[in-house]
Amino acid sequence: MTISVPIAAFEGDAGLPNAADVVIVGGGIVGVLTALELAEAGLAVTLCEKGVIAGEQSSRNWGWVRQMGREEAELPLASFALRLWRGMDARIGAQTGFRQTGITYAAFTARDAANWQRWHEIGKKYGINTTLLSRERACEIAPGIRGGVRMALWSPDDGCAEPWIAAPAMAEAARKAGTTVLTNCAVRAIDIEGGRVAGVITERGRIRAQRVVVAGGVWSRALLRNHGVDFPQLRVTGTVARVVGARGIPDHPFGTENVSLRPRMDGGHTLTLRNANIAEILPDNFRLFTQYVPRLRDSWREFHLRIGPSFFRELANPTSWSADEPTLFEAVRTLDPVPSNLFLKRALRNARNTFPSLEGVAVSHAWAGVMDVTPDSVPVIDAVPGLDGAWVASGCSGHGFGLSPGIGRLLADMLLSRRPVVDPSPFRWDRLTKKHMAYAGHDAPKRQTSP
Ligand SMILES: Cc1cc2nc3c(=O)[nH]c(=O)nc-3n(C[C@H](O)[C@H](O)[C@H](O)COP(=O)(O)OP(=O)(O)OC[C@H]3O[C@@H](n4cnc5c(N)ncnc54)[C@H](O)[C@@H]3O)c2cc1C
Repeated sequence: MTISVPIAAFEGDAGLPNAADVVIVGGGIVGVLTALELAEAGLAVTLCEKGVIAGEQSSRNWGWVRQMGREEAELPLASFALRLWRGMDARIGAQTGFRQTGITYAAFTARDAANWQRWHEIGKKYGINTTLLSRERACEIAPGIRGGVRMALWSPDDGCAEPWIAAPAMAEAARKAGTTVLTNCAVRAIDIEGGRVAGVITERGRIRAQRVVVAGGVWSRALLRNHGVDFPQLRVTGTVARVVGARGIPDHPFGTENVSLRPRMDGGHTLTLRNANIAEILPDNFRLFTQYVPRLRDSWREFHLRIGPSFFRELANPTSWSADEPTLFEAVRTLDPVPSNLFLKRALRNARNTFPSLEGVAVSHAWAGVMDVTPDSVPVIDAVPGLDGAWVASGCSGHGFGLSPGIGRLLADMLLSRRPVVDPSPFRWDRLTKKHMAYAGHDAPKRQTSP
């Protein structure tokens, strides 16, 4: 199957181990970095990926690695993750494309300026180095920007990496550290014996393990639902493009309320429409919608609700199945949605409106990716309630590329009963089942699914 995003090649291991200390479901950047952490700590780890390493969100994202603008609950983890990113290439002995470029957001509207001013105050509480720039300074940092800019927020410590090479390079490092990495190997179900995890059942057979980590991105909900566990995740699709011919724009990731641009290591820029994502209405969502009401009310402009052909396809999908037969994980090796032409056109228009020098810019390649969004836009990194031995690191809500080194470390700390690197309580599962949305939509700054 041809995938619409370029991804560095990674050859999975042959065969199937009988047993492991930990099995990880999912070869996105979260699963891969969790494997690396656990293997470095001396555990026997097997990672199962139904398609190719980083075939889904982890190769399709914008590549921004930032603390700026993130959910308050995530900030200690985001700062820790950034520290790990800085040392990542040396740690794995390969290139992820990470560079500390700094990131700027420019505000053209009073609403956006107020939002960034509010976030600047939040960042200060966590020691995050950001500076509010006057209109004049914003124009110096972004020469060529059209008139009307009010201010900007600049965060010199943030940066970016290259999604198409990062996770495959990390997977190679996890393998060198002792992980068995299986690609084209779907986990059909978690194996349960006597009420606790006994391993996984893959399309190649059974692997025995007392601990299983579910890092399946948008599929985590389906895998857990098969075991009667309700993990709330909404699927939200973003469209991305690589453009060539951009000149006279900032040399670092740069965003406004409606567009973002990032220079790429392979030439050109990654261009996206900001704050515009399609939330597919699926049969499963009807049940979830009440949980997302505060989130949708808070950032309704960001979401374009759509009933598409997948509604009817999903109707035909079973919600539980036997592991003896092929499952939906084998039916969809790589989720590869069609990019939205409308969003692409708008992104180009907004980019040219922001930087008139972009008039001649052209799209060389476009793709889309589906994010896994929790009701409060914060990941869950925790034990799975009621499934002894199962853990989850999922629901990254459009933030997981930057956070991933921190997620891997935090989860490894939990599994190994080490002192956690940051307070894990913001990532607990039960926040979503208790009065989880009590704080949403009031004084909190605007929540973001836009990465
Ligand atoms: C358009 C877009 C832009 C984004 N921009 C940014 C950004 O700039 N910065 C940022 O920090 N984040 C960004 N994100 C979010 C970020 O990409 C994700 O949060 C992150 O990649 C999640 O990694 P993951 O490993 O959890 O999931 P994924 O990368 O989706 O990986 C999950 C993997 O699990 C596999 N899998 C699932 N079920 C099974 C099974 N049963 N058996 C075997 N394998 C299975 C899937 O095939 C998949 O490869 C963006 C996301 C998108 C879509």
